[in-house]
Amino acid sequence: MVNRISTSEREVMRRLARLGIRPQRGDILYFLTTREPGEVEALYAEADRVRRECVGDEIHLRAIIEFSNHCRRDCRYCGIRRNFPGVTRYRMSVGEVVDAAAAAVDLGYRTLVLQSGEDGWFTRDRICRMVAGIKALGDVAVTLAVGERPVDEYRAFFNAGADRYLLKHETSDAELYARLNPGMNLETRIKCLRALKDVGFQTGSGIMIGLPGQTLESLAGDIMLFHELDMDMIGCGPYIPVAGCPTEWSERKREELSFRVLALNRVVTRDTHLPSTTALSTLNENDARALALQRGANVIMPNLTPERYRRFYEIYPSKKRIEVDTRAFRAELESLSFQLGRSISMGRGDRAGWTNA
Ligand code: SAH
Repeated sequence: MVNRISTSEREVMRRLARLGIRPQRGDILYFLTTREPGEVEALYAEADRVRRECVGDEIHLRAIIEFSNHCRRDCRYCGIRRNFPGVTRYRMSVGEVVDAAAAAVDLGYRTLVLQSGEDGWFTRDRICRMVAGIKALGDVAVTLAVGERPVDEYRAFFNAGADRYLLKHETSDAELYARLNPGMNLETRIKCLRALKDVGFQTGSGIMIGLPGQTLESLAGDIMLFHELDMDMIGCGPYIPVAGCPTEWSERKREELSFRVLALNRVVTRDTHLPSTTALSTLNENDARALALQRGANVIMPNLTPERYRRFYEIYPSKKRIEVDTRAFRAELESLSFQLGRSISMGRGDRAGWTNA
């Protein structure tokens, strides 16, 4: 008996070690499917160890500004898609975005994430002005998350000073991708991600977990793809159902799998930046954030969209506003990081080894 247990423990340790050297789909799938609580705990412990070894104890805060909810796309899972009924549309001006960024910088944020729907009003020129305006505020990193654009626009954004770009591939199951994203395809998405890396961005991808029709095999494929594309940032969270796009995965399952995918991303991709996502905190307001930080995450992305617009950027229905007051939320994060023996980073939080021009 004793012998058998220790053999299987050794086997689990061997699989975990192999994931950090030469990741294989089979090993990833093993940890996505195991029903042994001890094996899941071993995965989380390894993720926490790798996190400490590869990215340290600092927690990086990224201030998100959601500057427009206009979108030309009609992604089935998204609450601001073009044809989603009842959305009040808004668009901040370039000046308003720069002002909101300045307020975030005053609060101590060193990374600004500018996110929007795919809004054609924001031409190359306007985005470049926005980026340049924020870069003029000081030594802050600018991350863009504005969807698929031609490569020459990506290059222009980079030349205007943008440092990073987020474009989640959402799911590596090409058929599911095509079904959920009318008029789009996975191949183009991946081409964009490769182009963004080539241009010089620290590039981030991510997925939703628990999409209707998603499989564990495809989740293993997602993690392999993050690794293959050498993503610098990876944001994964549960799918939160919106009207017209239900899921067959229970909340509990989506939460559990989100933690496992997070931990596996850490073990496989080592020194990438992994956020504790807002979607995860939406499912579990009480302790998801603390748990994520102990299972591989090293980033939190507080929402600093101006109060008057924030409620209109409703990508999915949230039970309650998670962070109402930005100052109070920051104090909460300081106290959480203290409790966990971690600290809030004062730097920009670039990926290790990144040379900033
Ligand atoms: N237009 C931008 C920003 C999209 S919104 C872009 O294409 O990059 C940012 C992310 O929200 C999406 O990439 C998606 O992963 C996530 N999202 C959308 N709908 C969601 C839902 N119902 N539940 C959870 N996450 C969702």
